[in-house]
Amino acid sequence: MTEAREDRRSFTHVRALMAHTVEGLIAIRCDGTIRLMNEAAQEMLGLSRSDVVGNPVAALRSPALVQALDEILSSGSCPEGCSVALGVDGRDLRCSIATYEDEEGCGLVVAVHDETELTRVRKRSEAILASTGDGLIVYSADGRITFVNPAAGLLLARDPKELVDTAPDLWSLFGLEPEDRFDPGSQGSQVREVTVEEPTHRIIDVRTDPVIDDHGHYLGFVATLHDVTAEREIGQMKNEFVSTVSHELRTPLTSIKGYVDLILDGEAGEVNEIQTEFLGIVKENSDRLVDLINDLLDISRIESGRIHLKVQPLDVAERIRGAVDTFRAVLEQQDRAITVEVPDGLPRVAGDPDRVGQVLINFISNAIKYSPEGGSIWVRAAEEDGFVRMSVTDEGIGIAEEDMARLFTKFYRVDSKLTREIGGTGLGLSIVKSIIELLGGEVGVTSEAGAGSTFWFTLPQASPDLVRTPTVDGPSQVGGTVLVVDTNTEACDLIQTYLAKQGYDVLVAHDSQTAFELAVAEKPSAITLDVLMDSGDGFDLLRKLKDTPMTAKIPVVVLSIICDEGKSQRMGATGYLEKPIDRDRLVEIIEDIVGEVASPLVMVVDDDRRINDLICNTLKSKGFAVVAAYDGREAMVAVRHRSPDLVLLDLRMPVMDGYEVLAELKSDEATHDIPVVIMTAYRLDQTKADILRLAADQIAKPIDEGELVQRIAEAVAHAPERQV
Ligand code: ADP
Repeated sequence: MTEAREDRRSFTHVRALMAHTVEGLIAIRCDGTIRLMNEAAQEMLGLSRSDVVGNPVAALRSPALVQALDEILSSGSCPEGCSVALGVDGRDLRCSIATYEDEEGCGLVVAVHDETELTRVRKRSEAILASTGDGLIVYSADGRITFVNPAAGLLLARDPKELVDTAPDLWSLFGLEPEDRFDPGSQGSQVREVTVEEPTHRIIDVRTDPVIDDHGHYLGFVATLHDVTAEREIGQMKNEFVSTVSHELRTPLTSIKGYVDLILDGEAGEVNEIQTEFLGIVKENSDRLVDLINDLLDISRIESGRIHLKVQPLDVAERIRGAVDTFRAVLEQQDRAITVEVPDGLPRVAGDPDRVGQVLINFISNAIKYSPEGGSIWVRAAEEDGFVRMSVTDEGIGIAEEDMARLFTKFYRVDSKLTREIGGTGLGLSIVKSIIELLGGEVGVTSEAGAGSTFWFTLPQASPDLVRTPTVDGPSQVGGTVLVVDTNTEACDLIQTYLAKQGYDVLVAHDSQTAFELAVAEKPSAITLDVLMDSGDGFDLLRKLKDTPMTAKIPVVVLSIICDEGKSQRMGATGYLEKPIDRDRLVEIIEDIVGEVASPLVMVVDDDRRINDLICNTLKSKGFAVVAAYDGREAMVAVRHRSPDLVLLDLRMPVMDGYEVLAELKSDEATHDIPVVIMTAYRLDQTKADILRLAADQIAKPIDEGELVQRIAEAVAHAPERQV
């Protein structure tokens, strides 16, 4: 075969190839004449080969293409990736231009793509993105904005066109400070709530998702902006509504519950059997209502973030015992038992004692409620790396797999004939979950329909830095004057009746002016104050009492139907009670406070709780107020808080021993004059004799009651006059 024939043949091949590609192809010699044009190119550009081949590029007719080719031909250089967009007969074409070289010299190749379909899809996608209600901002991998839809423009009060092709930090668009920003691209999907004030106040959930292609390459990220202002406002309104209604319900309930209790106690004359039964039903149902309202209030507090948790180290066994004890009567009635399995030496957990009690009580009460056939109940606790896990197991109706996931959501109840008969609101478990999660733990359940359930929760172990603030306990025999301040006369009468029954003299005031005058004139031992009085805010009165030297030292117990504990404490209240008032707690608080005011306060520091309890009880029965601390550090915190008249100190203790406590007390001017009586069962460490000399007295263990009381009384009497 000759070379010429060979060439012709390969050229025929090329022609055949070009004729069958869907891409349009044009070859141009370097002198500007068109050498080749395939069928696809003719069809797309609407030209025939005879009009074009052998003619200059002007024959291609499309001005943009002709101009680009002329420029390249005259400059002799073709920039890489050079392409021209054309609209021909309603079609979108893209012409990519490249150079070639062969033995005949150099030239240009134009590849023509029909992008009509691609453009249509792109425009449609853009139209969809533009019309979504949520804002969208697309970032490329190198941190530039490539797309902003109108909704995002509106939310940010920026023109989308101006933002495209700039490279601002996403969070700077929302005015976030640099320290609050994070790189949205590198952290997977994230949602963050941000607030913008311009052009109007808006709360926006910003969700960022990385964009990854089929090959796993990171292409950038997309931020979705969802306006949640209305939802948040409705949520807040709902919370306010629930809390207002609940408070309004609490006031009449206080009277219903209180007076029924009094009638049942025989305060209004003898009650016959049938009356007792009927009143029992009233009491039971008003208790249920109180529980329901408390649940609703808890939910609204949790959702509005107003819940006040008092985190301190907790003894798990003690909490469990306390919770189980509240069911003693029910268990006796139903003739069933709760088995408590708590190993010795469990570490203490960090939690709010009342709230943890509430969680345990909720689980135990459900275990009883949802085991209608009876059966045993176990309450267990165990250490679990860094946490303590507590669980309540029953042999009751159990829970089916499909219900398990939703149990801890608000208002969810398993829908069955049995649960409908049992009754409930479905709020308990959702409150439990929120409380435990706020405390840094987890909740969960394992169960099987018909085969009982185990509900569990964990709490983090208390760090050694978490120190309990011990409370003061008053002596057992008391009496004194209490001023009751409440605009609601029925509530006043009720408190008066409760306290008078305990032997207190009660003064009553229905407005803050009278209350203040009585406080100044009568110097009561304690004041109970409803802070939501109609005549001006009760907190104003509290402030005035605390700011006036003559009344500043009178302990005030705040009674409230809203959650004001934190505020009350900050403003100097000594105690806090929620309405409807629990009579026993009221009496207990007043007893402690009045006893504390009238009696010398002794702090007993001993890590052995049995001995500590014993000493405290002995001292209380002899008219001392006491405060118990279980290690040296607790003692130091409590001393600063409570200024005791005397410290009774054990020497051998964990964490901070008695020698250290003694040395620290004596080296601080504020605590220097507090007499310290040390007690010890062992020979004293004479190497520390100089520290021991600082103590007022020593007493040997085992302690003789009579001697203890006498020594303490003497030490208190001889103590230097102190400014408290
Ligand atoms: P309530 O008991 O008022 O309905 P909870 O939030 O305490 O509300 O419980 C939600 C639901 O979980 C209950 O209605 C019940 O269906 C189910 N449940 C809770 N505890 C148990 C249990 N120990 N055994 C079986 N089902 C339970």
